[in-house]
Amino acid sequence: MGLPTLGHRFADELPELALPWQAEEVAAPQLLVLNEPLAAELGLDVDWLRSPDGLRFLVGGLVPEGARPVAQGYAGHQFGGWSPRLGDGRALLLGELTDREGRRRDLHLKGSGRTPFARGGDGRAAVGPMLREHVVSEAMHALGVPTTRSLAVVATGREVQREVPLPGALLVRVASSHLRVGSFQYARALEAQHSGDRSPGVLQRLLDHAIDRHHPDAAKADRPALALLEAVAAAQARLVAAWMQLGFVHGVMNTDNVTISGETIDYGPCAFLDVFDVAASFSSIDEGGRYAYGNQPAIAEWDLARLAEALLPLVEGDGVDEAAAIELATASLGTFRTAYAEAWDDGWARKLGLGADGAGGSEEVKAVVAGLTDLMRADRVDLTSFLVALADGRARDLVLDLAAHDAWHARWQALGPDVDLMRRTNPVRIPRNHLVQEALDAATAGDLGPLGPLLAAVTSPYDVDGSTPAGMERYAEPAPDSFGDYTTYCGT
Ligand code: AMP
Ligand code: MG
Repeated sequence: MGLPTLGHRFADELPELALPWQAEEVAAPQLLVLNEPLAAELGLDVDWLRSPDGLRFLVGGLVPEGARPVAQGYAGHQFGGWSPRLGDGRALLLGELTDREGRRRDLHLKGSGRTPFARGGDGRAAVGPMLREHVVSEAMHALGVPTTRSLAVVATGREVQREVPLPGALLVRVASSHLRVGSFQYARALEAQHSGDRSPGVLQRLLDHAIDRHHPDAAKADRPALALLEAVAAAQARLVAAWMQLGFVHGVMNTDNVTISGETIDYGPCAFLDVFDVAASFSSIDEGGRYAYGNQPAIAEWDLARLAEALLPLVEGDGVDEAAAIELATASLGTFRTAYAEAWDDGWARKLGLGADGAGGSEEVKAVVAGLTDLMRADRVDLTSFLVALADGRARDLVLDLAAHDAWHARWQALGPDVDLMRRTNPVRIPRNHLVQEALDAATAGDLGPLGPLLAAVTSPYDVDGSTPAGMERYAEPAPDSFGDYTTYCGT
Protein backbone atom coordinates (compact mmCIF):
# COMPACT_ATOMS: atom_id res chain seq x y z
CA MET A 1 0.00 0.00 0.00
CA GLY A 2 1.58 3.27 -1.10
CA LEU A 3 0.13 6.42 -2.53
CA PRO A 4 -3.46 7.02 -1.48
CA THR A 5 -6.21 8.21 -3.78
CA LEU A 6 -7.01 11.87 -3.29
CA GLY A 7 -10.34 13.32 -4.33
CA HIS A 8 -10.85 16.84 -5.60
CA ARG A 9 -14.46 17.66 -4.98
CA PHE A 10 -13.69 21.07 -3.55
CA ALA A 11 -11.64 22.00 -6.63
CA ASP A 12 -14.33 20.63 -8.98
CA GLU A 13 -17.32 22.25 -7.34
CA LEU A 14 -15.73 25.55 -6.40
CA PRO A 15 -13.12 26.41 -9.03
CA GLU A 16 -13.43 30.11 -8.13
CA LEU A 17 -12.05 29.28 -4.68
CA ALA A 18 -9.41 26.82 -5.86
CA LEU A 19 -6.20 27.81 -7.54
CA PRO A 20 -4.25 24.83 -8.95
CA TRP A 21 -0.81 24.95 -7.37
CA GLN A 22 2.17 22.88 -6.38
CA ALA A 23 4.32 22.63 -3.31
CA GLU A 24 7.79 24.10 -3.38
CA GLU A 25 10.39 21.38 -3.78
CA VAL A 26 11.93 20.04 -0.59
CA ALA A 27 15.32 18.53 -1.34
CA ALA A 28 16.09 16.99 2.05
CA PRO A 29 12.91 16.33 4.02
CA GLN A 30 13.33 14.96 7.52
CA LEU A 31 10.41 13.57 9.46
CA LEU A 32 10.23 15.22 12.89
CA VAL A 33 7.06 13.53 14.05
CA LEU A 34 4.54 11.16 12.50
CA ASN A 35 1.12 10.59 14.01
CA GLU A 36 0.83 6.83 13.62
CA PRO A 37 -2.68 6.40 15.07
CA LEU A 38 -4.00 9.09 12.74
CA ALA A 39 -2.18 7.55 9.77
CA ALA A 40 -3.92 4.26 10.55
CA GLU A 41 -7.28 6.01 10.86
CA LEU A 42 -6.71 7.43 7.38
CA GLY A 43 -5.76 4.04 5.97
CA LEU A 44 -2.17 5.18 5.30
CA ASP A 45 0.73 2.78 5.65
CA VAL A 46 3.09 4.02 8.35
CA ASP A 47 6.16 2.22 6.99
CA TRP A 48 5.54 3.61 3.53
CA LEU A 49 5.08 7.14 4.93
CA ARG A 50 8.53 6.82 6.50
CA SER A 51 10.07 5.71 3.17
CA PRO A 52 11.65 8.21 0.71
CA ASP A 53 8.50 8.10 -1.46
CA GLY A 54 6.28 8.51 1.58
CA LEU A 55 8.25 11.56 2.66
CA ARG A 56 8.02 13.05 -0.82
CA PHE A 57 4.28 12.52 -0.61
CA LEU A 58 4.11 14.25 2.78
CA VAL A 59 5.85 17.36 1.46
CA GLY A 60 3.73 17.56 -1.69
CA GLY A 61 6.53 16.49 -4.05
CA LEU A 62 4.95 13.18 -5.04
CA VAL A 63 1.37 13.83 -6.03
CA PRO A 64 -0.92 10.82 -6.52
CA GLU A 65 -2.18 10.44 -10.07
CA GLY A 66 -5.47 12.22 -10.53
CA ALA A 67 -5.00 14.48 -7.50
CA ARG A 68 -5.38 18.22 -8.06
CA PRO A 69 -3.66 20.23 -5.30
CA VAL A 70 -5.01 23.76 -4.92
CA ALA A 71 -4.43 26.88 -2.87
CA GLN A 72 -7.78 27.89 -1.43
CA GLY A 73 -9.10 31.41 -1.79
CA TYR A 74 -10.78 33.06 1.17
CA ALA A 75 -11.26 36.52 2.61
CA GLY A 76 -11.50 37.56 6.23
CA HIS A 77 -11.77 40.14 8.93
CA GLN A 78 -8.42 40.28 10.69
CA PHE A 79 -8.63 42.00 14.07
CA GLY A 80 -11.87 43.52 12.82
CA GLY A 81 -10.40 44.91 9.58
CA TRP A 82 -11.58 43.61 6.22
CA SER A 83 -9.12 41.79 3.94
CA PRO A 84 -10.84 40.87 0.68
CA ARG A 85 -8.16 38.44 -0.46
CA LEU A 86 -6.28 36.30 2.03
CA GLY A 87 -6.25 32.69 0.87
CA ASP A 88 -3.62 30.01 1.35
CA GLY A 89 -0.45 32.06 1.12
CA ARG A 90 1.74 29.22 2.28
CA ALA A 91 -0.60 26.27 2.27
CA LEU A 92 -2.04 23.76 -0.14
CA LEU A 93 -5.03 21.46 -0.16
CA LEU A 94 -3.56 18.24 -1.54
CA GLY A 95 -6.97 16.67 -1.79
CA GLU A 96 -9.63 14.70 0.03
CA LEU A 97 -9.05 11.29 1.56
CA THR A 98 -11.74 8.87 2.55
CA ASP A 99 -10.82 7.50 5.96
CA ARG A 100 -11.46 4.01 7.34
CA GLU A 101 -14.88 5.04 8.56
CA GLY A 102 -15.84 6.45 5.19
CA ARG A 103 -15.52 10.09 6.27
CA ARG A 104 -14.07 12.63 3.86
CA ARG A 105 -10.98 14.35 5.28
CA ASP A 106 -8.87 17.15 3.79
CA LEU A 107 -5.14 16.53 3.48
CA HIS A 108 -3.46 19.88 3.63
CA LEU A 109 0.08 21.26 3.81
CA LYS A 110 1.13 24.34 5.73
CA GLY A 111 4.52 25.87 4.99
CA SER A 112 4.66 24.39 1.47
CA GLY A 113 5.91 27.50 -0.32
CA ARG A 114 4.57 30.74 -1.73
CA THR A 115 1.33 30.78 -3.66
CA PRO A 116 -0.30 33.65 -5.57
CA PHE A 117 -2.05 34.48 -2.26
CA ALA A 118 1.26 34.97 -0.44
CA ARG A 119 1.29 38.78 -0.61
CA GLY A 120 4.53 39.72 1.19
CA GLY A 121 5.03 36.36 2.89
CA ASP A 122 7.75 33.84 2.13
CA GLY A 123 5.37 30.88 2.03
CA ARG A 124 7.33 29.05 4.67
CA ALA A 125 6.94 28.00 8.26
CA ALA A 126 9.38 27.30 11.06
CA VAL A 127 9.86 24.15 13.11
CA GLY A 128 8.62 25.70 16.38
CA PRO A 129 5.18 26.93 15.26
CA MET A 130 4.48 23.76 13.25
CA LEU A 131 5.33 21.58 16.23
CA ARG A 132 3.16 23.81 18.42
CA GLU A 133 0.25 23.12 16.10
CA HIS A 134 1.02 19.39 16.19
CA VAL A 135 1.23 19.22 19.99
CA VAL A 136 -1.73 21.44 20.77
CA SER A 137 -4.09 20.09 18.12
CA GLU A 138 -3.38 16.50 19.18
CA ALA A 139 -3.87 17.49 22.82
CA MET A 140 -7.19 19.12 21.94
CA HIS A 141 -8.27 15.97 20.15
CA ALA A 142 -7.41 13.90 23.23
CA LEU A 143 -9.40 16.38 25.32
CA GLY A 144 -12.44 15.74 23.15
CA VAL A 145 -12.40 19.20 21.55
CA PRO A 146 -13.25 19.29 17.82
CA THR A 147 -10.07 20.21 15.98
CA THR A 148 -8.04 19.83 12.86
CA ARG A 149 -5.45 17.08 13.30
CA SER A 150 -1.76 16.86 12.54
CA LEU A 151 -0.47 13.88 10.61
CA ALA A 152 3.17 14.92 10.53
CA VAL A 153 5.71 17.67 10.84
CA VAL A 154 8.57 17.47 8.35
CA ALA A 155 11.71 19.58 8.54
CA THR A 156 12.56 21.09 5.16
CA GLY A 157 16.25 21.60 5.79
CA ARG A 158 15.79 25.20 4.69
CA GLU A 159 16.35 28.24 6.80
CA VAL A 160 13.40 30.55 7.35
CA GLN A 161 14.16 34.20 7.91
CA ARG A 162 12.24 35.59 10.89
CA GLU A 163 13.61 37.93 13.58
CA VAL A 164 16.39 35.38 13.63
CA PRO A 165 16.99 32.63 11.08
CA LEU A 166 15.03 29.51 12.04
CA PRO A 167 14.90 25.94 10.73
CA GLY A 168 11.99 25.47 8.34
CA ALA A 169 9.26 22.85 8.53
CA LEU A 170 5.96 21.90 7.05
CA LEU A 171 2.85 20.60 8.75
CA VAL A 172 0.62 17.95 7.21
CA ARG A 173 -2.82 18.84 8.47
CA VAL A 174 -6.00 16.80 8.36
CA ALA A 175 -9.40 18.43 8.71
CA SER A 176 -12.99 17.56 8.03
CA SER A 177 -12.68 20.52 5.66
CA HIS A 178 -10.96 23.87 5.41
CA LEU A 179 -14.16 25.83 4.80
CA ARG A 180 -14.22 28.97 6.91
CA VAL A 181 -16.40 31.97 7.50
CA GLY A 182 -13.88 33.72 5.26
CA SER A 183 -14.66 31.28 2.42
CA PHE A 184 -18.25 32.56 2.41
CA GLN A 185 -17.09 36.16 2.64
CA TYR A 186 -14.87 35.58 -0.40
CA ALA A 187 -17.66 33.91 -2.39
CA ARG A 188 -20.06 36.70 -1.50
CA ALA A 189 -17.53 39.33 -2.64
CA LEU A 190 -16.87 37.44 -5.89
CA GLU A 191 -20.56 37.31 -6.57
CA ALA A 192 -20.97 41.01 -5.88
CA GLN A 193 -18.42 41.67 -8.62
CA HIS A 194 -20.75 39.83 -10.97
CA SER A 195 -23.86 41.62 -9.77
CA GLY A 196 -26.68 41.42 -12.24
CA ASP A 197 -25.21 38.24 -13.63
CA ARG A 198 -26.64 35.50 -11.41
CA SER A 199 -25.01 32.73 -13.42
CA PRO A 200 -21.79 32.33 -11.40
CA GLY A 201 -23.73 31.12 -8.36
CA VAL A 202 -20.53 30.49 -6.43
CA LEU A 203 -22.16 31.42 -3.13
CA GLN A 204 -25.01 28.96 -3.70
CA ARG A 205 -22.54 26.25 -4.71
CA LEU A 206 -20.45 26.90 -1.61
CA LEU A 207 -23.58 26.66 0.53
CA ASP A 208 -24.53 23.35 -1.06
CA HIS A 209 -21.00 22.04 -0.68
CA ALA A 210 -20.79 23.06 2.99
CA ILE A 211 -24.20 21.65 3.83
CA ASP A 212 -23.46 18.37 2.12
CA ARG A 213 -20.13 18.08 3.85
CA HIS A 214 -20.94 19.19 7.37
CA HIS A 215 -24.54 19.87 8.16
CA PRO A 216 -26.62 17.70 5.78
CA ASP A 217 -29.87 18.23 7.69
CA ALA A 218 -29.80 21.87 6.64
CA ALA A 219 -30.59 20.79 3.06
CA LYS A 220 -34.12 19.84 4.10
CA ALA A 221 -34.88 23.19 5.76
CA ASP A 222 -37.14 25.83 4.21
CA ARG A 223 -34.22 28.20 4.11
CA PRO A 224 -31.00 26.14 3.92
CA ALA A 225 -28.76 29.19 4.28
CA LEU A 226 -30.31 30.01 7.66
CA ALA A 227 -30.22 26.38 8.69
CA LEU A 228 -26.51 26.29 7.90
CA LEU A 229 -25.96 29.48 9.88
CA GLU A 230 -27.73 27.95 12.87
CA ALA A 231 -25.77 24.70 12.55
CA VAL A 232 -22.47 26.58 12.44
CA ALA A 233 -23.57 28.75 15.37
CA ALA A 234 -24.38 25.63 17.40
CA ALA A 235 -21.06 23.98 16.51
CA GLN A 236 -19.07 27.12 17.33
CA ALA A 237 -20.99 27.61 20.59
CA ARG A 238 -20.04 24.11 21.73
CA LEU A 239 -16.48 24.61 20.58
CA VAL A 240 -15.88 27.94 22.30
CA ALA A 241 -17.55 26.73 25.52
CA ALA A 242 -15.12 23.78 25.49
CA TRP A 243 -12.18 26.17 25.01
CA MET A 244 -13.35 28.33 27.88
CA GLN A 245 -13.68 25.38 30.21
CA LEU A 246 -10.10 24.35 29.47
CA GLY A 247 -8.67 27.85 29.75
CA PHE A 248 -7.70 27.78 26.06
CA VAL A 249 -6.99 31.11 24.39
CA HIS A 250 -7.01 30.75 20.60
CA GLY A 251 -5.39 34.12 20.07
CA VAL A 252 -6.36 34.88 16.47
CA MET A 253 -10.10 34.42 15.99
CA ASN A 254 -10.20 36.21 12.66
CA THR A 255 -13.07 35.16 10.41
CA ASP A 256 -10.65 33.21 8.22
CA ASN A 257 -9.79 31.10 11.26
CA VAL A 258 -13.38 30.17 12.12
CA THR A 259 -14.41 26.90 10.51
CA ILE A 260 -17.80 25.89 9.15
CA SER A 261 -17.24 22.40 10.62
CA GLY A 262 -16.82 23.73 14.17
CA GLU A 263 -13.26 22.41 14.42
CA THR A 264 -10.54 24.50 16.05
CA ILE A 265 -8.11 25.66 13.36
CA ASP A 266 -4.76 27.51 13.29
CA TYR A 267 -2.78 27.20 16.46
CA GLY A 268 -0.42 30.12 15.76
CA PRO A 269 -0.45 32.25 18.91
CA CYS A 270 -2.62 30.04 21.13
CA ALA A 271 -1.90 29.45 24.82
CA PHE A 272 -3.49 28.03 27.97
CA LEU A 273 -4.26 29.98 31.12
CA ASP A 274 -2.14 29.30 34.14
CA VAL A 275 -3.97 31.76 36.37
CA PHE A 276 -7.64 32.42 35.72
CA ASP A 277 -7.89 35.88 34.17
CA VAL A 278 -10.60 36.96 31.76
CA ALA A 279 -8.28 39.60 30.30
CA ALA A 280 -5.51 37.08 29.55
CA SER A 281 -4.08 37.59 26.09
CA PHE A 282 -0.79 36.10 24.97
CA SER A 283 -0.36 37.06 21.33
CA SER A 284 2.24 39.73 20.62
CA ILE A 285 0.09 41.22 17.85
CA ASP A 286 -3.17 41.33 19.84
CA GLU A 287 -2.33 44.64 21.46
CA GLY A 288 -5.89 45.61 22.31
CA GLY A 289 -6.70 42.22 23.78
CA ARG A 290 -9.48 41.73 21.22
CA TYR A 291 -8.99 37.97 21.43
CA ALA A 292 -8.45 37.78 25.19
CA TYR A 293 -9.73 34.72 27.07
CA GLY A 294 -12.98 36.25 28.28
CA ASN A 295 -13.80 37.86 24.93
CA GLN A 296 -13.89 34.61 22.98
CA PRO A 297 -17.65 33.93 23.09
CA ALA A 298 -18.50 37.50 22.04
CA ILE A 299 -15.91 37.36 19.26
CA ALA A 300 -17.29 34.05 18.00
CA GLU A 301 -20.68 35.71 17.78
CA TRP A 302 -19.18 38.69 15.94
CA ASP A 303 -17.51 36.33 13.45
CA LEU A 304 -20.81 34.49 12.93
CA ALA A 305 -22.48 37.81 12.19
CA ARG A 306 -20.02 38.15 9.30
CA LEU A 307 -21.12 34.70 8.09
CA ALA A 308 -24.74 35.83 8.35
CA GLU A 309 -23.96 38.89 6.20
CA ALA A 310 -22.24 36.77 3.59
CA LEU A 311 -25.25 34.45 3.39
CA LEU A 312 -27.87 37.21 3.04
CA PRO A 313 -28.28 36.98 -0.75
CA LEU A 314 -29.23 33.33 -0.29
CA VAL A 315 -31.90 34.23 2.24
CA GLU A 316 -33.54 36.77 -0.05
CA GLY A 317 -36.08 35.81 -2.69
CA ASP A 318 -39.45 34.08 -2.50
CA GLY A 319 -41.05 37.24 -1.20
CA VAL A 320 -38.21 37.97 1.26
CA ASP A 321 -36.64 41.35 0.61
CA GLU A 322 -33.33 42.53 2.04
CA ALA A 323 -34.84 43.95 5.23
CA ALA A 324 -36.77 40.76 5.88
CA ALA A 325 -33.66 38.69 5.16
CA ILE A 326 -31.70 40.69 7.72
CA GLU A 327 -34.42 40.13 10.27
CA LEU A 328 -34.45 36.38 9.64
CA ALA A 329 -30.67 36.13 9.73
CA THR A 330 -30.54 38.11 12.98
CA ALA A 331 -32.95 35.66 14.56
CA SER A 332 -30.82 32.73 13.39
CA LEU A 333 -27.71 34.39 14.75
CA GLY A 334 -29.50 34.73 18.07
CA THR A 335 -29.39 30.95 18.46
CA PHE A 336 -25.68 31.24 19.22
CA ARG A 337 -26.31 32.75 22.67
CA THR A 338 -28.77 30.09 23.68
CA ALA A 339 -26.53 27.31 22.40
CA TYR A 340 -23.52 28.80 24.15
CA ALA A 341 -25.35 29.13 27.48
CA GLU A 342 -26.49 25.53 27.22
CA ALA A 343 -23.02 24.23 26.35
CA TRP A 344 -21.53 26.30 29.17
CA ASP A 345 -23.99 25.06 31.78
CA ASP A 346 -23.85 21.42 30.70
CA GLY A 347 -20.06 21.43 30.41
CA TRP A 348 -19.67 22.79 33.92
CA ALA A 349 -22.28 20.44 35.31
CA ARG A 350 -20.16 17.53 34.07
CA LYS A 351 -16.86 19.03 35.20
CA LEU A 352 -18.25 19.65 38.67
CA GLY A 353 -19.53 16.07 38.80
CA LEU A 354 -23.12 17.22 38.85
CA GLY A 355 -24.57 15.12 36.10
CA ALA A 356 -24.62 14.41 32.44
CA ASP A 357 -26.42 16.30 29.65
CA GLY A 358 -29.20 18.54 30.79
CA ALA A 359 -28.10 18.83 34.45
CA GLY A 360 -26.68 22.28 33.71
CA GLY A 361 -30.22 23.57 33.29
CA SER A 362 -31.00 23.47 37.01
CA GLU A 363 -30.89 26.71 38.96
CA GLU A 364 -28.78 25.22 41.78
CA VAL A 365 -26.14 24.07 39.32
CA LYS A 366 -26.10 27.44 37.57
CA ALA A 367 -25.59 29.19 40.90
CA VAL A 368 -22.69 26.88 41.82
CA VAL A 369 -21.08 27.45 38.40
CA ALA A 370 -21.39 31.21 38.75
CA GLY A 371 -19.88 30.96 42.24
CA LEU A 372 -16.97 28.92 40.89
CA THR A 373 -16.05 31.45 38.21
CA ASP A 374 -16.24 34.26 40.81
CA LEU A 375 -13.88 32.31 43.05
CA MET A 376 -11.47 31.62 40.17
CA ARG A 377 -11.44 35.22 39.09
CA ALA A 378 -10.97 36.67 42.57
CA ASP A 379 -8.14 34.34 43.54
CA ARG A 380 -6.45 33.98 40.12
CA VAL A 381 -6.49 30.24 40.60
CA ASP A 382 -5.04 27.79 38.08
CA LEU A 383 -8.23 26.34 36.61
CA THR A 384 -6.80 22.95 35.65
CA SER A 385 -5.12 22.27 39.01
CA PHE A 386 -8.13 23.54 40.92
CA LEU A 387 -10.57 21.15 39.25
CA VAL A 388 -8.24 18.18 39.73
CA ALA A 389 -7.73 19.16 43.38
CA LEU A 390 -11.47 19.54 43.84
CA ALA A 391 -12.01 15.91 42.88
CA ASP A 392 -9.16 14.90 45.21
CA GLY A 393 -10.48 16.94 48.15
CA ARG A 394 -7.48 19.32 48.13
CA ALA A 395 -8.91 22.43 46.51
CA ARG A 396 -8.87 24.50 49.69
CA ASP A 397 -5.05 24.57 49.55
CA LEU A 398 -5.15 26.44 46.25
CA VAL A 399 -7.29 29.44 47.16
CA LEU A 400 -6.65 32.59 49.16
CA ASP A 401 -10.11 33.51 50.34
CA LEU A 402 -10.87 30.50 52.54
CA ALA A 403 -14.23 31.77 53.74
CA ALA A 404 -15.46 32.28 50.17
CA HIS A 405 -14.13 28.86 49.23
CA ASP A 406 -15.79 27.14 52.18
CA ALA A 407 -19.17 28.71 51.50
CA TRP A 408 -18.98 27.73 47.82
CA HIS A 409 -17.69 24.25 48.60
CA ALA A 410 -20.59 23.53 50.97
CA ARG A 411 -23.13 24.51 48.31
CA TRP A 412 -21.37 22.34 45.75
CA GLN A 413 -21.10 19.35 48.11
CA ALA A 414 -24.80 19.59 48.88
CA LEU A 415 -25.48 18.71 45.22
CA GLY A 416 -23.75 15.33 45.65
CA PRO A 417 -20.89 15.54 43.12
CA ASP A 418 -19.75 12.37 41.36
CA VAL A 419 -15.95 12.18 41.60
CA ASP A 420 -15.62 9.60 38.81
CA LEU A 421 -17.42 11.90 36.41
CA MET A 422 -15.08 14.73 37.44
CA ARG A 423 -12.03 12.59 36.74
CA ARG A 424 -13.34 11.72 33.29
CA THR A 425 -14.02 15.37 32.43
CA ASN A 426 -11.19 17.36 34.05
CA PRO A 427 -7.78 16.89 32.47
CA VAL A 428 -4.70 16.57 34.64
CA ARG A 429 -2.33 17.28 31.74
CA ILE A 430 -2.87 20.11 29.26
CA PRO A 431 -0.20 21.62 26.98
CA ARG A 432 1.17 24.03 29.58
CA ASN A 433 2.88 27.01 27.98
CA HIS A 434 6.21 26.45 29.71
CA LEU A 435 6.33 22.78 28.69
CA VAL A 436 5.34 23.48 25.10
CA GLN A 437 7.92 26.24 24.89
CA GLU A 438 10.61 24.00 26.34
CA ALA A 439 9.93 21.31 23.71
CA LEU A 440 9.75 23.80 20.83
CA ASP A 441 12.96 25.58 21.85
CA ALA A 442 14.78 22.25 22.10
CA ALA A 443 13.45 21.08 18.71
CA THR A 444 14.43 24.38 17.11
CA ALA A 445 17.95 23.75 18.43
CA GLY A 446 17.86 20.23 16.94
CA ASP A 447 16.95 18.28 20.09
CA LEU A 448 13.71 16.29 19.75
CA GLY A 449 14.17 14.80 23.23
CA PRO A 450 11.46 16.70 25.15
CA LEU A 451 8.87 16.43 22.36
CA GLY A 452 8.02 12.73 22.73
CA PRO A 453 7.31 12.75 26.48
CA LEU A 454 5.30 15.97 26.14
CA LEU A 455 3.17 14.45 23.38
CA ALA A 456 2.66 11.30 25.42
CA ALA A 457 1.57 13.39 28.42
CA VAL A 458 -0.87 15.69 26.66
CA THR A 459 -2.44 12.98 24.55
CA SER A 460 -3.39 11.08 27.72
CA PRO A 461 -4.86 14.01 29.66
CA TYR A 462 -7.08 12.21 32.16
CA ASP A 463 -6.23 10.13 35.24
CA VAL A 464 -9.57 8.42 35.64
CA ASP A 465 -8.45 6.48 38.72
CA GLY A 466 -7.02 9.59 40.35
CA SER A 467 -3.37 8.54 40.14
CA THR A 468 -0.74 10.04 37.85
CA PRO A 469 1.44 7.59 35.88
CA ALA A 470 5.08 7.51 36.98
CA GLY A 471 7.20 10.09 35.16
CA MET A 472 4.28 12.29 34.20
CA GLU A 473 4.13 14.36 37.40
CA ARG A 474 5.80 17.45 35.97
CA TYR A 475 3.24 17.66 33.17
CA ALA A 476 0.51 18.22 35.75
CA GLU A 477 2.18 21.24 37.35
CA PRO A 478 1.44 24.87 36.50
CA ALA A 479 4.33 27.01 35.30
CA PRO A 480 6.90 27.95 37.92
CA ASP A 481 6.81 31.64 38.87
CA SER A 482 10.17 32.05 37.16
CA PHE A 483 8.45 31.41 33.78
CA GLY A 484 6.90 34.88 33.99
CA ASP A 485 4.44 36.38 31.51
CA TYR A 486 4.10 34.39 28.34
CA THR A 487 4.02 35.95 24.87
CA THR A 488 3.21 34.04 21.71
CA TYR A 489 3.99 35.04 18.16
CA CYS A 490 1.80 34.34 15.17
CA GLY A 491 2.67 31.11 13.40
CA THR A 492 4.57 32.82 10.65
P1 AMP B 1 -2.89 32.82 9.73
O1 AMP B 1 -2.70 33.92 10.71
O2 AMP B 1 -1.85 31.73 9.81
O3 AMP B 1 -4.28 32.29 9.72
O4 AMP B 1 -2.60 33.48 8.31
C1 AMP B 1 -3.33 34.56 7.81
C2 AMP B 1 -3.02 34.74 6.33
O5 AMP B 1 -1.64 35.04 6.13
C3 AMP B 1 -3.30 33.54 5.47
O6 AMP B 1 -3.78 34.01 4.25
C4 AMP B 1 -1.95 32.90 5.35
O7 AMP B 1 -1.84 32.07 4.21
C5 AMP B 1 -1.04 34.11 5.24
N1 AMP B 1 0.33 33.83 5.69
C6 AMP B 1 0.76 33.67 6.96
N2 AMP B 1 2.08 33.44 7.00
C7 AMP B 1 2.52 33.44 5.72
C8 AMP B 1 3.81 33.26 5.09
N3 AMP B 1 4.91 33.02 5.80
N4 AMP B 1 3.85 33.33 3.75
C9 AMP B 1 2.75 33.56 3.02
N5 AMP B 1 1.54 33.74 3.54
C10 AMP B 1 1.40 33.69 4.87
MG1 MG C 1 -5.48 30.97 9.14
